[in-house]
Amino acid sequence: MKFPRFAAVTVAAAALTLSACGSAEKSVDTQTGTTEGALVGVTMPTRSSERWIHDGDNIKKQLEEKGYKVDLQYAENDIPTQANQIENQITKGAKLLIVASIDGTAITSQLQQAEDAKIPVIAYDRLLRNTDSVDYYATFDNFKVGVQQATSLLTGLKVLNADGTPGTATGPLNIELFAGSPDDNNATFFFNGAMSVLQPHIDKGTLVVKSGQVDFKTVAILRWDPATAQQRMENLLTSTYGGAQVHGVLSPYDGLSIGILSALKSSGYGTGGNPYPIVTGQDAEVASVKSIIGNEQYSTIYKDTRELAATTVKMADSVLKGQKPEVNNEKDYDNGKKVVPSYLLESVIVDKSNFQKVLVDSGYYTADQLK
Ligand code: BGC
Repeated sequence: MKFPRFAAVTVAAAALTLSACGSAEKSVDTQTGTTEGALVGVTMPTRSSERWIHDGDNIKKQLEEKGYKVDLQYAENDIPTQANQIENQITKGAKLLIVASIDGTAITSQLQQAEDAKIPVIAYDRLLRNTDSVDYYATFDNFKVGVQQATSLLTGLKVLNADGTPGTATGPLNIELFAGSPDDNNATFFFNGAMSVLQPHIDKGTLVVKSGQVDFKTVAILRWDPATAQQRMENLLTSTYGGAQVHGVLSPYDGLSIGILSALKSSGYGTGGNPYPIVTGQDAEVASVKSIIGNEQYSTIYKDTRELAATTVKMADSVLKGQKPEVNNEKDYDNGKKVVPSYLLESVIVDKSNFQKVLVDSGYYTADQLK
């Protein structure tokens, strides 16, 4: 464990590491004020997807409430831009970095610079890979997200009932698979989680991946780009579905789902007697929730970015005060160099039956935003 190296905010550190009691820790800090005004560098991948805007806003707000200064940057999915942003934050004297990477392996030299300057690094949502220079990881249970996506695909197809018992459909039902960006560690976790649920049904013949495209590399969509997903779906419809029906599509992210649905629409789905296939998603983005309400997309996975921000800010605050942050998983996230101590949050399947309760009643969205 390397966390003592970042007792950059030193005065209180020795006393604090001895203390396991939250209130004692807090009172020492408020007395000394040692972390007050410390700069935290936050880098997010892109503004092109709503979720990262929420993440960035939530982290910034919560850090500022704790008295930190925040440099929040978005890189619009451009790796050199993100690398520069991190270098700038180091130069500006950031005391801690929170990084949601674009490519989890592409910024190792910047992370090494951070380590050399004794700046702790928290990987946010996406694991930083092939580096020792990452201290903690805050995310959702990504394998489980994939399990939930596949489970809702099966429920939508009526292969399963909502309670998990066998449904009325026996197939064969045609499905196609999509995965996220191959340079995002999460994408593999989502896909493996989903396949752990789907594979037995494929083996039984209830589900048929009619294109035959089942391996991660073939179905992965670089940078999670909606246009690439739309193109791939169009190609699949042309190459494989002349005269045949697509019944379900495993989509790992709402942006891709929108692209996939648009390819399906151009091919005549969603009109008259030709319903859309069951299409999954992730992030509960407004456009997709509206699409779910309008009977187009079937489901999404809700990950409360307020909670992820809160977890990360709590971690950052502990680390900056020289304390050991709370983690709940020290085995699943091996980044190729080390197992990164992680805090995993729980996600929720959202479809038309529960969006009101999960998204509106919880205050995540207002009813007006979904109109
Ligand atoms: C996140 C997902 C998101 C995807 C695309 C993943 O790393 O965990 O929530 O849908 O990136 O932005």
